[in-house]
Amino acid sequence: MNEEIKQLTELQIIDLEIAMFDAQISSEQEALAKSEKIFDERQGSIIELKEKIEAAEAQRRELEAELSDEVNRIKERQSKMMQVQTNREYQSLLKEIEDSKKNMKEKEEEIVTLMETSEANSKIMAEQENLTEDETKTLDAESKKAKKHAASIERKKAKFVKKRKAMAKDINTSVLRKYDMLRKRRNGKAVVGVANGVCQGCFMSIPPQHFNNILKGDRMLDCPTCQRILFHDPENTEE
Ligand SMILES: [Zn+2]
Repeated sequence: MNEEIKQLTELQIIDLEIAMFDAQISSEQEALAKSEKIFDERQGSIIELKEKIEAAEAQRRELEAELSDEVNRIKERQSKMMQVQTNREYQSLLKEIEDSKKNMKEKEEEIVTLMETSEANSKIMAEQENLTEDETKTLDAESKKAKKHAASIERKKAKFVKKRKAMAKDINTSVLRKYDMLRKRRNGKAVVGVANGVCQGCFMSIPPQHFNNILKGDRMLDCPTCQRILFHDPENTEE
């Protein structure tokens, strides 16, 4: 096999290893981010419940004040009733007192509803807070574990990166540039085998003449479809 193709196939193996380490690290980070998102959402719902409870409390105080206004109004009307001259005035005051009483009843019912809702919300909030407490611990442990694991992956990766650097030094600069560019554009795979006349990168057939040239293995040849650098891969070819 041509020396450059040989170098590139070896480099490709190392680069795939490095990419695997990177994928491992990022998948763990994603899992952690997911847990953090759930945690943040729960925190958000606790804040929302707290605001609802506070708003209900403010509304309740307002209603209580209105209730005491109604009480005063009734008292006022009742004392006026002592001094009325006509039946018409009397009836009108009586009607006002009835209206006030009706208003009071509505407000009292509203207060009860508000208190019941707040009670239910407080219960949910307490449950959520309990969960948060547990989650804080879990998340903390998870994050420590992920960091430790990421560090160990990074250490393994560093060995491969070092090896890669040393290998890359021996490869012709323009060949290496082409390889790196292909790797970027072709999902990490720049050098692929040809098995049974098919490119193992894009799985398209290689024209027979082109394939014959690849079999010779004396120069670097590309796949006419995906432009990846090809090498003959007898291991994966069925006889
Ligand atoms: Zn191809």
